Order: sequence, then C-alpha cells, then structure tokens
Amino acid sequence: MEQSEITIAGDTPGVEWRLPVLHFRGDTKTAPRVYLQAALHANELPGTAVLHFLCDRLRKAEAEGALAGDVTIVPQANPIGAAQAHFGEMQGRFDLASRTNFNRDFPLVTLAERDALLADLDRETAVKRLKRRLLHLALGAELVLDLHCDDESIQYAYIDEAFWPEAADLASSLSMAAVFLSDGESTAFEEAVGHAFKHRGAGKLAKVPGRLAVTVELRGRRDVHPDTAKADADGLFRFLAARGVVRASEPHAPAFTGPAVPLDNIDMVRALEPGTVLFHKDIGDAVEAGEMLATIITRPGLDDGLFEMRAERSGLVATRTSDRFVRRGDDLMKIVCKDRIRLDRAPGTLED
Ligand SMILES: [Zn+2]
Repeated sequence: MEQSEITIAGDTPGVEWRLPVLHFRGDTKTAPRVYLQAALHANELPGTAVLHFLCDRLRKAEAEGALAGDVTIVPQANPIGAAQAHFGEMQGRFDLASRTNFNRDFPLVTLAERDALLADLDRETAVKRLKRRLLHLALGAELVLDLHCDDESIQYAYIDEAFWPEAADLASSLSMAAVFLSDGESTAFEEAVGHAFKHRGAGKLAKVPGRLAVTVELRGRRDVHPDTAKADADGLFRFLAARGVVRASEPHAPAFTGPAVPLDNIDMVRALEPGTVLFHKDIGDAVEAGEMLATIITRPGLDDGLFEMRAERSGLVATRTSDRFVRRGDDLMKIVCKDRIRLDRAPGTLED
C-alpha cells in the first residue's frame, strides 16, 4: 500500500487542507479498478470505520499476491466539513461558507473530459477543488462506491438503473435490506460518476456493464460499531472477489431478494403537526396501510394533545428521523412501497 496526500489551499490565509489517499496496486491489467470513499458528508462515519477494516484485508491480499485490480481509497473524504463545528456540533452536510451540500454540485463531465477537472484549479474555492479532485480520482476507476449513511436506517443503496441488476452482487455481498433505483438526474458524486460512465460521444448508454457508481447508505449515523464495520468490510471484500479485483475463495453471497424499487416508490412521510414524536414503528418494520406510524404530542398535558400519523400505504420502513421533536414538514420516515406513489417528484435525489 502506498499513501499519498492531496493538499488544497484554504480560502483564508493560513489554512491548508490535507486529504490522505491510499493506493493498492493490482497485478492484472484487465482487472477492474476500484475507487472507494467515505464521509463526504463529514458526519457520516460508518464508512470510514468500514474502510479502515477493509484496508487490513487488502494489505493482507497484497502481501499474498492476491490483488488483481488497483484499489484507491479515500477513507475520510471531507476535511473541510469535518472541521466545521457550530455550537459544539459538527456540520458535515453543508459547506457553511457557500451553503452548498457537500454531495451536490459535482461537475457533470464525460470520461474524455476527466483531465479538464484539474485545469485552472487555483481559480476555484477549496470546496470546489475538493469536489474536482475526488471526482478526478473516481473517474480513474470502473467500480466507484461512495459510502454514506442515513439518520436512523436500514442498510440500503442508491443505484442508477444503468447498473442494475448487475449490481445485485453488491447488495447481496453487503447486507442491504433494500435498493433505491435512482434516475441519475442530479449532481451528487455518484451521479456525476454515473454521468461520465453513461455519456460516451453524443449518446447516452442505457446500461453500462462492468462499471458501477453507487451511494451506499451504511445504516444510521450512530451505527458505528466494530462488529458491523468488520462485517461490512468483509462484505465489500466479498464483492471485490466476485468482481475479480481480488483473488480469493470467498463464500458465495446468497442472491439479493430485497426490494429494488424506483425513487417514485419511496413514500417520504412528513410531520403534519409539530411536537414531540412517539414512534410506533421502527426501521426494518413492515407496515400496513392504516397502521399507526407515530403519535405526535402537539399539546402536552391536554386531553386532545395527540396527533396520529398513520401509514397511507403498505411498505417497509427504511429510515426514521433521530430527532424526537419535529417541526411541521420535517421528514419523519422513508417507506419503501411496492407501487409508484409519487407522480410529482422532480428528477434527482430525494433530499436536499
Ligand atoms: Zn450522506
């Protein structure tokens, strides 16, 4: 393993950001190259822990001469976000200076335009430099995994339909409970990578075999545990073995049997009243239409102080807010439904 470092000048005097990059060199030219990053949303750490343990396994594979493809790893992709604290709490999702989401506004380029990402970099702000450097690294690989997490959540992934169902091996190698099939119509990191993979010449490919760009949601923000991190690292290693990146006789993962549904099938349940939330359903629960999802204590202590939130449709509770006080309109849950339920969704990501 070799370690290099990307340095990015800060936007104020006396500041410089350093981004460690780990390189594992494979011995087979035809093997897929892999890029993995974690904590682009700086306060989403399950992936950083997983990549730490994956590197253990890759170092061992390298020592045993079992590494076929190159693997590039950025285990903590966002030093700028990690350094942002507001009243004692890390602000890892949005750049406070520009109000932009760290996982949006990636440039949409083709593979042929990859090197243009690094042209005139010194004219860009630190966050834009960071995004261009990360995307440039990723476009040197065929398999690109961006590791995030949700609030309270099952393990799931956003996968562009261009990579499905080929990517079912990733879903089964990890322990995904669902796959959200995305439309690739926004500027998240994974979508910018997918854009480059799909756009060749003037046309757009409907399917891109042998390539993958995916956002993996490694459960919830507090799900940073030694056991799950090691199990997920083993899962990623299993995926790398299945794709011929490492030569290893890994046990075959059983086929993925969970739901794989378009984003239009995701019911974003929002709080209709403000107050203190009492959840009646947990992540991973199946719900029937009409069942109680949560009661909100809108007027504490009063006879009529409860507001009921019932499921409008049947489905699987994928995520839940970790807040126990909600404002009107806050996201309460994502529920995976069998049928299309949203007719007015703008293309692109579910959340800002
Ligand atoms: Zn994220």
